[in-house]
Amino acid sequence: MKLDNGSQKLIEIFKKEGINAFAVGGCVRDSLMQRPINDYDLTVPCPPQITADILQKNGISYLDIGIKHGTVTALIDKKPYEITTFRKDGEYLDNRRPQSVEFVTNIVDDLSRRDFTVNAMAYNPELGLIDEFGGRHDLKSGIIRTVGEPDLRFNEDALRILRAVRFASVLNFEVERKTALSAIKNARLLKNVADERITQEFEKLSSGEGLIPTLNRFCPVICQILPSAMKTYEKHAFDNALVMLSKLSHTVENTVAVFAITAYCEKSEIQASKSDIFGRLKLSNQQISSINNLVFGYTLPFENDKLYLKRLLLKYSPVQLLEILDFRLATTFEAGLYDCKKTVMQIIESKEPYLISHLAITGDDLVKKGASGKEVGALLQKALELVICGAVENDKQKILDILYEKNL
Ligand code: ATP
Ligand code: MG
Repeated sequence: MKLDNGSQKLIEIFKKEGINAFAVGGCVRDSLMQRPINDYDLTVPCPPQITADILQKNGISYLDIGIKHGTVTALIDKKPYEITTFRKDGEYLDNRRPQSVEFVTNIVDDLSRRDFTVNAMAYNPELGLIDEFGGRHDLKSGIIRTVGEPDLRFNEDALRILRAVRFASVLNFEVERKTALSAIKNARLLKNVADERITQEFEKLSSGEGLIPTLNRFCPVICQILPSAMKTYEKHAFDNALVMLSKLSHTVENTVAVFAITAYCEKSEIQASKSDIFGRLKLSNQQISSINNLVFGYTLPFENDKLYLKRLLLKYSPVQLLEILDFRLATTFEAGLYDCKKTVMQIIESKEPYLISHLAITGDDLVKKGASGKEVGALLQKALELVICGAVENDKQKILDILYEKNL
């Protein structure tokens, strides 16, 4: 396995103290798959206070906010390395959190609490790969399988249900039959998981290479998160949604928008169903506005007419309008949309005016002419209409002439 400089340095520092530290979890999995590694997590057999002391002794800065749960985060070249003491989880409460954690000294005990076999491997340069649960075999076969009985593991922590679906999508793996059936059977338990954790996993899931087959297999899990997916399913339109999604880039925005569109075809339904569109997801304002743009833009009539498209550019920014066009070009066979896109691009590139800020006059020019208050905005709007429709050139004097001639 490939270690980066930071994790190598940390393992050496612990070795000097006679302690075998291991790289563990996602970094081992991704390294064996030759995928880019997000972050290196380490696991150690010593208590967190000793970890902190060793780091201090070696001049490595660290954060100890997770020390109660056994985690100290070392910072090397500004990169965080979570170092967690080998741990066994106690009884679980509310399908989410262990009541207690117990520090242990056997690496296999630590690996046995981890969610999936492919995430339950550890590596130390001298001791090699510790793979007690067949992680390497499952990695080679492309299989997600819980460590231990799936029913038990999903009941302990229901987030694992969504993590199974997430890893299947991101790694483009199959979920082993018993694990998959149990995930579907226990999908309701996701109600006990915080929205924020659901959102994190769902975002990763939505970006996965294996998104389409995974959504197909785990429709009941997705329905627990997005009421719009449930409605799509009830309308027998789930397959349609997947066909649409297969033509789009894999993002959470596209996933949410596609289910909303297939669930609520009528404009009035969309208005009424905003909370059903986002379901359990706590997305950023930017993501929400992008999804709303795609959903509301889906029923927007288009004409390949410069004046008409410029008027749309009054309401939608160029980015928004192009997003709507690209989304519809990918998912529908509407005649003429491609030409509309070409015209929009041409308007934008030729810098033809379509916004008040593009006008050769400003509010100040109108104030000088005696306009005040709301009148200024109304006159600017009128000027823009006149320029857009070609009634006047975008020239300060000409605009003022026509405005005041008409307003006399
Ligand atoms: P990513 O590349 O997305 O970070 P990861 O496998 O590193 O993937 P993390 O959420 O960072 O995922 O978790 C790190 C490791 O901790 C996992 O590989 C797994 O071994 C363990 N783990 C994380 N969440 C759980 C959980 N809910 N139940 C059991 N083990 C878990
Ligand atoms: Mg990780």
